[in-house]
Amino acid sequence: MQNRESEPSARPERVKWLKRMILALLVIFMVLPMIASILMLIHIRQLNDQLDAMKDQVAMLQQNREPGEAGAKSAAKEQTGLLTDPSSETLPADKGDAGNDAPETMLADFEGSESGNGAITQQAAAPEAVGSANAADEKTTAKTCKVYLTFDDGPSSNTGRILDLLAEYDVKATFFVNGREGPISESLYKRIVDEGHTLGMHSYTHKYDEIYESKQAFIKDLERLQDYLYEITGVWPRFYRFPGGSSNEVSTVSMQELADYLKEQDIYYLDWNVASGDAMGTNLSAGALAQRVLGMIGEEETQVVLMHDAADKSATVDALAIILEDLTKQDGVEILPVSEDMDFTPVQHLKSQ
Ligand SMILES: [Zn+2]
Repeated sequence: MQNRESEPSARPERVKWLKRMILALLVIFMVLPMIASILMLIHIRQLNDQLDAMKDQVAMLQQNREPGEAGAKSAAKEQTGLLTDPSSETLPADKGDAGNDAPETMLADFEGSESGNGAITQQAAAPEAVGSANAADEKTTAKTCKVYLTFDDGPSSNTGRILDLLAEYDVKATFFVNGREGPISESLYKRIVDEGHTLGMHSYTHKYDEIYESKQAFIKDLERLQDYLYEITGVWPRFYRFPGGSSNEVSTVSMQELADYLKEQDIYYLDWNVASGDAMGTNLSAGALAQRVLGMIGEEETQVVLMHDAADKSATVDALAIILEDLTKQDGVEILPVSEDMDFTPVQHLKSQ
């Protein structure tokens, strides 16, 4: 009897439950794919950033490796030949395969020379310097050395710390920046200029496939950054560092052609001859980075140190503290910002024919 009475009320209950289930399923089927899509987009972005960083590394490692295989002179020639040879121009997509050998070789070299930091610079790789156990002793007796500390890829959340450290040691450096919008970035560009450092350019987008797509694309990106920085700081930037260096093999345009264009525009470009190793992807400690840099200082009269000003490179800032503490105490070492008075030739990877 009781069963019978309860039946009519149980049916709407079940219908209600079914309706709720259908609604819940609808929500799940609509919301879940949306969340999944958002997560995937974020992941793609991260992968793209990683890819950019790796392209930087490949270009840098290749740059450091090539001269090591031959004498400095023939290497420079080889490099020029390679860069102007249209057949060597590869699309970014081919880059990974084409450049595979270089990073592995270089990483092996790095691992094998914990203290032999000199091995990664062009100059140090010259036959007379390779394997010289006395290199470290010899460099202390070297003549005056002009050191140019350069920071690529900023501004970032680490720029402020870098500027604080430079101020603490009363040292001027050079920042090769990208185009970043917003009040925080704008204030950092201004701080760089106001505190007496050189504001250099490193492309607006830092997207290899865009800036190296054609000469026109390169010029468009360059002018966009130059105008932007001038608008914010009132300073007309005249120094440039190519993303990946002038010897990168990512560009579909002849790098010599782009270098010539910069010259026409009265813009000086420079590469580096001391790579701190902070873009190698091996996450070297601050101590290891500082040791690499300090090990190379004194080998050449003009030394341009490549470092990165990026949010994920705090080790670089810690390394900078060690480097500044050491270098500012060394006689015969002068730390300078990049200026048109400097000797550019030793630190331009492209050698004009
Ligand atoms: Zn860069």
